[in-house]
Amino acid sequence: MKPIDSERLHEECGVMAVVNHPEAPRLTTLGLAALQHRGQESAGLAVADGHVVHSHRAMGYVSDALTDEVVRGLKGHLAIGHVRYSTTGSSNLRNAQPIHVTYKRGSLAIAHNGNLVNAQTLRREMENEGSIFNTTNDSEVILHLVARSRQETIDRALAEALRQVEGAFSLLVINPDTVMVARDPRGFRPLCLGKLDGAWVAASETCALDMIGARYERQVDPGEMVVLHADGRMDSYRWADEQPASMCIFEYVYFSRPDSTIYGRSVDQVRRRMGEALGREAPADADVVIGVPDSSNTASLGYSRVTGIRWELGLIRNHYVGRTFIRPSQEVRDFSVRKKYNPVRHVLQGKRVVVVDDSIVRGTTMRKLVKIIRQAGATEVHLRISSPPITHSCYYGIDTPIRRELIASSHTVPEIAAYLQVDSLAYLSIEGLMSSVQATEGFCRACFTGEYPIAPSGVGKDVFESETAPQTPSS
Ligand code: SF4
Repeated sequence: MKPIDSERLHEECGVMAVVNHPEAPRLTTLGLAALQHRGQESAGLAVADGHVVHSHRAMGYVSDALTDEVVRGLKGHLAIGHVRYSTTGSSNLRNAQPIHVTYKRGSLAIAHNGNLVNAQTLRREMENEGSIFNTTNDSEVILHLVARSRQETIDRALAEALRQVEGAFSLLVINPDTVMVARDPRGFRPLCLGKLDGAWVAASETCALDMIGARYERQVDPGEMVVLHADGRMDSYRWADEQPASMCIFEYVYFSRPDSTIYGRSVDQVRRRMGEALGREAPADADVVIGVPDSSNTASLGYSRVTGIRWELGLIRNHYVGRTFIRPSQEVRDFSVRKKYNPVRHVLQGKRVVVVDDSIVRGTTMRKLVKIIRQAGATEVHLRISSPPITHSCYYGIDTPIRRELIASSHTVPEIAAYLQVDSLAYLSIEGLMSSVQATEGFCRACFTGEYPIAPSGVGKDVFESETAPQTPSS
């Protein structure tokens, strides 16, 4: 069940927690619904009442997996939740999160956004020592490490476990009376804190706080452990030495919702600046600017503002094609794209059109979309991409195809333009991207540059030059 087209990179998870609130399970579920864009394969909740942790996970959207009846049955004032998009192919409930286990000190559940680059090595070592794993999910490694720890408190045991893993993780861990919120030392994936009526809230994006009326407090710092107690107390400390930040810049390009604040910056504002920078770098002689909805609308507004070319809604996205999709019995040409986008003919007819999109992965969907725009009457199509060419796979929790399937890994910009059959093609430069986030460093940009902040352990650096992404299943 992969409802989104293969022309996008995909975020793999969203996490949400509400601590010390009588409606914690319901509020967490609402927050997960706001994070649905980060994962549609499965959803789950783990709830604690001071004595025990209960959990429920199911395949499907939040509204399918966490029905009213299910949520009513989970009693407690602490809750963590998770939405997942999987890289592991077929739907698999075993890998849904939160992963809930019972060990010598009671019950424990984890919700993880990111990808551990040394999970395979650690898992192999533990299996050789007799450990049994229930899932093929890298997050389970963390639970095993916590269970083995001799630290006296659960948060110190978690910190000890986290010092043994490498990679990207923004995670939530719940036991009967505590929720721990932790972020990896480089801060690959976002995680923020908010407050609601004296309760603490943690979420991947601030749009989840908005959904439940919570007030944004701050982001969880890279390498920080926040311990939220059932009685409302909050402790915070650094569990890891400081490291150079590697926040995922693709959150601004595509993953995060424009109404969110990520890494302390408004996604909408950054995305508009990307469009403006693109307009300055690659203006076009054209009549209208359109964005590929919904993710590129914001950048296309920025492009229009700088170039003075009129902005129009030229493509309408169908949000309701859903997961249970019935193919027509008769082959409809370019159906995979038509089911998602429909052109507004009178906007495009006889016009020279600038199409702004956030990225090109394989190029197959864009090629069909260009054809549909031409069939709607556009006389010229000038494609502008509000990020640099994606030339490398991601190893930090984003579902990217193997490298050879990325069109920009093996084709020049003119070659890609010829394949897409556009009149002109331009990408935003790395400098333009960095100026849009108003920083010179602190971000991971490896899918654009191949400069990976952390190499997977157990394999040489040259793994990144191979055409096969590591097989560690991601959370
Ligand atoms: S490689 Fe790209 S998608 Fe992956 S974390 Fe880095 S910037 Fe984000």
